[in-house]
Amino acid sequence: MSDTEPTSPIPGAAPDDMFPTLTPAQQARIVVHGRARAVQAGETLVEADVSLNKFFVVITGHLNILRASGNTDEVVAVVAPGAFTGELNMLSGRRGLVRIRAGEPSEVIEVGREELLSLIQTDSELSDIFLRAFILRRLSLITRGIGNVVLIGSVHSLDSLRIKEFLTRNGHPYSYIDLDSDADVQNLMDHFHVAVADLPVLICRGQLVLRNPDNQEIADCLGFNEGIDQTKPRDLVIVGAGPAGLSAAVYGASEGLDVLVLESNSPGGQAGSSSKIENYLGFPTGISGQELAGRAYTQAQKFGAQVLITKDAKRLACDRRPYAVEIDNGQRVPARTVVIATGAQYRKLPLENLSQFEGAGVYYGATHLEAQLCGGEEVIVVGGGNSAGQAAVFLAETARRVHMLVRSNGLRESMSRYLIRRIEESPGIVLRTNTEITALEGGDHLESVSWLNSQSGTAETHNIGHVFSMTGAVPNAHWLDGCVALDQKGFIKTGSDLSPEDLAAAHWPLARPPYLLETSLPGVFAVGDIRGGNIKRVASAVGEGSIAIAFVHQVLGE
Ligand SMILES: Cc1cc2nc3c(=O)[nH]c(=O)nc-3n(C[C@H](O)[C@H](O)[C@H](O)COP(=O)(O)OP(=O)(O)OC[C@H]3O[C@@H](n4cnc5c(N)ncnc54)[C@H](O)[C@@H]3O)c2cc1C
Repeated sequence: MSDTEPTSPIPGAAPDDMFPTLTPAQQARIVVHGRARAVQAGETLVEADVSLNKFFVVITGHLNILRASGNTDEVVAVVAPGAFTGELNMLSGRRGLVRIRAGEPSEVIEVGREELLSLIQTDSELSDIFLRAFILRRLSLITRGIGNVVLIGSVHSLDSLRIKEFLTRNGHPYSYIDLDSDADVQNLMDHFHVAVADLPVLICRGQLVLRNPDNQEIADCLGFNEGIDQTKPRDLVIVGAGPAGLSAAVYGASEGLDVLVLESNSPGGQAGSSSKIENYLGFPTGISGQELAGRAYTQAQKFGAQVLITKDAKRLACDRRPYAVEIDNGQRVPARTVVIATGAQYRKLPLENLSQFEGAGVYYGATHLEAQLCGGEEVIVVGGGNSAGQAAVFLAETARRVHMLVRSNGLRESMSRYLIRRIEESPGIVLRTNTEITALEGGDHLESVSWLNSQSGTAETHNIGHVFSMTGAVPNAHWLDGCVALDQKGFIKTGSDLSPEDLAAAHWPLARPPYLLETSLPGVFAVGDIRGGNIKRVASAVGEGSIAIAFVHQVLGE
């Protein structure tokens, strides 16, 4: 019943990669980081819903991996001699999703989480084996809906979609029960005393019934941020976990910096809302933004970067050093250097009743979650850039027809050639140039859309219930409140783009000029879509994230 996307397994991974057998030589390299010990039959080694802090390799006997819901002890996997326990939460230290119990008297190697993390960072052969297995196990949990969350919702509800997106983007397994199509839903609702008006409802860790929770409540209930010290001064605080921020986190942490990332929603940023990125180097058949982000998130954690989810940066305290980033609970996170990677978000269509339909017919991303909502129906994609083109091509696979509305008189100026060709060759896509939406109508859900062709003056209204809005982006810079110099469009100025006047106005205190990607505030860098002059691409965001780290080292050494 899981509705999470089973993101494709690691290329080239064989089924044995999920539970590989370690050689005696590999086991010998592990035992020096822990201790060998005997366990009794039936002894619980890892309890579900408790922060993961121990890892086991089986020497003799076997361990059972048990589904942790209720009192059932369903065995979902067996760890045989030579194999090991653990999945992705081992890296983050979040709560375990399964229970692990010895199936017979056994002998194991026990290793603490901190020791395991240092082994992963130093032994590249073991690191590959562990990470491959952890990722595959997580994918298997997601596909099988094994976890500690049940969502009861409706395909027609904006908040159901939001919660699904939040869990999916955080790679958290969940089971989904749909009010409209699931026969057993009433029994479950009666059991937890919830009414239809309460939906969507999230049953968290089998105990808490959260009625239409916001993302922060979900993160809190699932312990996403547990164990992360928000008060400790960091070498580097990165704001935003899109491609640019995650790249800075991977490079910074792998080069020994103490890195904390603050993300207001979930990792992935705009790229996470893309169905398929085809122009990112090294992925000839394309990769979904969510999968790319998921891998980067794991990679950053592997090197020891910590990521706080649902923590919105509200203000940069920039009057003295170390700087501090204020987050929404008023907490100040001290930082010796800061990388701003808060990206941009789509402009909203200038329509009075737009908010009525956001999530209920108007969407800002085109992933499989949104595509499921409009299969076999007509849809509209607004915008003439690459993201709009990509969405149109993707949606044309399942929608009856895609109307592509662009304000200009063609796509040539704004879209890559490969996408223009796909659009031209797709019989399901109708390109409508010089056209803008003038009105949205409907009740709980969007029902009809009117548009106007500014050249011919023709106005039309169609019974269409799905609009994908992918028009130009505005920078997420409001929280900076005068701390750094911005260009006329509100993007952050960096490096040689900062004029002597900008630097004088900012009271630039150093003899040296700002480094590449450094803002008008020493030691504060801007990377990715938030930066003025940035090329709005995943590759450039990732490149800038890595370049900034070279200069962070220089600033820390000054
Ligand atoms: C649908 C779509 C398809 C795309 N397809 C492609 C493609 O095929 N190829 C390509 O190269 N590019 C593509 N792009 C563009 C690419 O995704 C962006 O250029 C890239 O994501 C920019 O990365 P970023 O990290 O700079 O910013 P973003 O991706 O915007 O990430 C910024 C992050 O910062 C967080 N944030 C914002 N404000 C705060 C705050 N105050 N506190 C904490 N966190 C905050 C946001 O939640 C977000 O996670 C696409 C974009 C979209 C939307």
